[in-house]
Amino acid sequence: RRRETPQGSDSETSAVKKLLAGKLHIISLGCSKNLIDSEVMGALARDSGMTMANRPQDADVVLVNTCGFIGPAKEESLEAILALAEIKKQRGGAIRLVVAGCLAQRYGRKLLSEIPEADLWIGTGEVGRIAEHLQGLQAGGAKRKAIVSRPDFLMTAHHKRVLPSGAATAYLKISDGCSNRCTYCAIPSIRGRARSRRPEDIVLEAENLVARGVREIILIGQDTTAYGKDLKNRPLLSGLLTDVSAVSGLRRLRLLYAHPAHVTTGVLETMASRENICRYLDLPIQHIDDAILAAMNRRVSSKTIREIIRQARGMMPDLALRTSLIVGFPRETPKRFDRLMDFVRNMRFDHLGVFTYSREEGTPAADLPSRISEKEKERRRDAVMNEQADISLAVNQTLIGSIQEVLIEGKSERRGFALVGRCRRQAPDVDGVTYLKKGRAAAGDFVRCKITGCDHYDLFGEILFDNCRKMKL
Ligand code: SF4
Repeated sequence: RRRETPQGSDSETSAVKKLLAGKLHIISLGCSKNLIDSEVMGALARDSGMTMANRPQDADVVLVNTCGFIGPAKEESLEAILALAEIKKQRGGAIRLVVAGCLAQRYGRKLLSEIPEADLWIGTGEVGRIAEHLQGLQAGGAKRKAIVSRPDFLMTAHHKRVLPSGAATAYLKISDGCSNRCTYCAIPSIRGRARSRRPEDIVLEAENLVARGVREIILIGQDTTAYGKDLKNRPLLSGLLTDVSAVSGLRRLRLLYAHPAHVTTGVLETMASRENICRYLDLPIQHIDDAILAAMNRRVSSKTIREIIRQARGMMPDLALRTSLIVGFPRETPKRFDRLMDFVRNMRFDHLGVFTYSREEGTPAADLPSRISEKEKERRRDAVMNEQADISLAVNQTLIGSIQEVLIEGKSERRGFALVGRCRRQAPDVDGVTYLKKGRAAAGDFVRCKITGCDHYDLFGEILFDNCRKMKL
């Protein structure tokens, strides 16, 4: 996913010493964790004197915060860099091009010589030092550099973030890095070991976000259910959920990236018992065949995965369950793939994403034999997605006639609908949305809707009462 720099609100600008000048444009690629880094870098640059440009053509410095954990993400990042290099050329070199993020952490030193249009490469450990790097760039003339340090940056509530003006939904990173070492995954080497933020620091950021008008907070991390294991007194995720959900004025709290090896009954009970926590479980299982799970080093069995789902659905009959899968992992025989297909068919996930296995250098799985061809991987991905499309449609059809609380995101661009928003079953960026036929509401309003129709991924509805802010939903 690609996002361009929001302007942000001026109230966030502080009066610290201005070291920088000029206009900055940021392009954020990849996941929501990367997006937060972009927001933090934007705020640090702005507090040091830069202003935000809406387009790269209007900027003095363009920063592209890249993704680089699998093949397609790397390709997308390279395309974005080369497109910016072209804009730089058209402007006679008047733009300074900075490449940050996962691709820079992983390949910055190598790409420094291959992409001469980029002036500066900075890894994921450099987020907190962006202002000094930009200052060095503005002061230092033509010397091009790659600065790749140990990826150990961890934001705190004292880091400001450039959020879109009037944002009603915001991600909140409770931890960074990962210590799991799944055999296919390059993220631990890109993002470093798992580091959790202190609970009180997370609560403080939640309070700050609510004070800025955020109504829904989404807790994220590479593995949110590993939260607290690295801290001295090992605070529990269930306690953190309770504390954040108690922040005054917070209407919705959602948790993403719950690794099945670490989901506890306490987390599910908290989710079930707190009114403002969405009954939404994002459980990236990756596979269900035990031999594949072991080869992936997922440290969880198919039995445990089934038990978590049974328990979660037992506690929350209205639970929306999301998962992500990898198909075409080495040694995924037709029989093992069929086992996955049967599981998808029977488990009826509300939302599901599929990746084809990407062989990443430096990961243990890259050396595994019995590799599956790209064509076969794609066939398997398409087969799962086709199966899931029917399931998603059937799940959505069961919602017709139900009443849902929808957080309005703005005017609809889809013909025949006035507004678009999300009900509690729908996370931003990855799930479908709810389109509303008519009615008046502003972004950030909550409205009560009756679901009247659907397609495979989206819901269609009608507002029952205008302006339900004051209603108890
Ligand atoms: Fe990668 Fe596994 Fe950590 Fe997720 S849990 S970031 S897949 S190592």
